[in-house]
Amino acid sequence: MPDPNGFLRYERQLPARRPVAVRITDWREVYPPAGAELIREQATRCMDCGIPFCHDGCPLGNRIPDWNDLVRTGNWDAAVESLHATNNFPEFTGRLCPAPCEAACVLGLGGQQPVTIKQVEVEIADAAVARGGLNPRPVPASTGRSVAVVGSGPAGLAAAQQLARAGHAVTVYERDDAIGGLLRYGIPDFKLEKQHIDRRVAQLAAEGVQFRAGVNIGVDVTAEELRGRHDAVLLACGALQGRDTPETPGRPLRGVHQAMTHLVAANRVVAAAGDGRPAPAVLPDGTPIDAAGRHVVIIGGGDTAADCLGVAHRQGAAGVHQLDLYPEPPHGRDAERDPWPTWPWVLRNYPAHEEGGDRVFAVAVQEFVDDGTGQVKGVRIAEVTVERRDGRRVVTALPGSERELPADLVLLAIGFEGTEEQPLLAQFGVTRNARGAVDARPDWQTDADGVFVAGDMHRGASLIVWAIAEGRAAAAAIHSYLGGIGSLPAPVDPARQPLAAR
Ligand SMILES: Cc1cc2nc3c(=O)[nH]c(=O)nc-3n(C[C@H](O)[C@H](O)[C@H](O)COP(=O)(O)OP(=O)(O)OC[C@H]3O[C@@H](n4cnc5c(N)ncnc54)[C@H](O)[C@@H]3O)c2cc1C
Ligand code: SF4
Repeated sequence: MPDPNGFLRYERQLPARRPVAVRITDWREVYPPAGAELIREQATRCMDCGIPFCHDGCPLGNRIPDWNDLVRTGNWDAAVESLHATNNFPEFTGRLCPAPCEAACVLGLGGQQPVTIKQVEVEIADAAVARGGLNPRPVPASTGRSVAVVGSGPAGLAAAQQLARAGHAVTVYERDDAIGGLLRYGIPDFKLEKQHIDRRVAQLAAEGVQFRAGVNIGVDVTAEELRGRHDAVLLACGALQGRDTPETPGRPLRGVHQAMTHLVAANRVVAAAGDGRPAPAVLPDGTPIDAAGRHVVIIGGGDTAADCLGVAHRQGAAGVHQLDLYPEPPHGRDAERDPWPTWPWVLRNYPAHEEGGDRVFAVAVQEFVDDGTGQVKGVRIAEVTVERRDGRRVVTALPGSERELPADLVLLAIGFEGTEEQPLLAQFGVTRNARGAVDARPDWQTDADGVFVAGDMHRGASLIVWAIAEGRAAAAAIHSYLGGIGSLPAPVDPARQPLAAR
């Protein structure tokens, strides 16, 4: 029986982040471990609700009250088991998830701070490493059926592990030189150190999953060849088509880039330095990857923008402005607009925001300014209002509000337009819908029989927790398509949406 008064005795508390002055001198993770006593107290705050809304917030259906109580009572091995029953990679979500489960925690209903679910999760996940919870679990008998997984992000890896553990022969194809999808070169080390991915890849390999990095399906291997080798194919290629702003004057200038062009290059430099390998110092247009001493302007307000901000600080930028089209969100939940337990629109302060930089809200770039040599030297911005008219977004600049910000490097982090147009799509006979995503039937198959889709490629740019949930569900569908015995867990169906007020 959980402690019914835990939340009255203990305040919500997270471990202190590493000091800013120290952490911006390296690429290590921002959060140190919480410590056993703090995490026991935090887990004790969970009320084990009769209707635990935290479950509804999480697409994985994580057994949150169960593992909170196991941590409270010091039953760590059982907590590791309970957590892994629904989530293949809790060390990824525990570190990186924005935690819709916490927004849905019942404590939030009574004006209390929610349970630190995500912190408890990461502590259990890290305890698993020490306690052998990551030991491989190979299955002795093979079904004789074979599956190709295209893309090695969290969706592809979760599906691969589920299918391998069900006895299927699984090969993961990845066009990058290393496994991990966006976790590998998209997300910087200060959010996720890469040994967490390496450990899981080793576990999956020991469970029989074959990895083929550096293989671009549709280019190096055709869809027909792949279908000839395997009984089923899962496409988990992500949603990496960056949104652009071609109509803004000065867009072709040197130094104006898609955020991912710079971010991936910067993360590759960190990876190469860790391995003692040389890495390019400039982007293809000659822009230095190191922003030291330069003025950086980041356009956009999401995860990608915040990651660019943290990178710019660590590279020693002279100054950083982060621009957002929309006004500054409220600092707390607006219950009229976003009633509990839905995901609220509030100002999100990432650790990178503590480290410096200026956030400028309700502005739009009018022009990227040329220094006379074809290199950007500034951005001209105007204050704006944004309205919806007939379902369309209308942005109006306020007359006389224009000003210029210095900029040697401009990063466009204004979202993604779905999965990339690439040869693989036509070869498999699948098409992008109006959102740039690939539709799935209720059984996760695309328009092509035996070809399944999951993760961002199906959902559009989303979250790791959704990618894992979709990977698990698509694996269950593939298992059944292959005539596998029994059934695998399927936490979501293709139509499932985040919790919303109806
Ligand atoms: C900068 C950034 C920061 C983020 N931060 C967070 C965060 O903090 N928390 C969070 O929850 N989410 C975050 N996200 C979102 C999260 O990373 C994605 O939702 C998640 O990675 C999607 O997983 P996926 O497996 O569907 O695809 P991806 O991780 O995108 O992996 C797809 C893989 O498919 C490969 N591929 C594509 N085409 C082919 C082909 N033809 N042949 C072989 N391989 C191919 C790609 O190279 C890629 O490795 C972030 C996203 C970005 C861009
Ligand atoms: S909603 Fe909050 S308090 Fe209730 S079971 Fe979930 S984590 Fe515990």
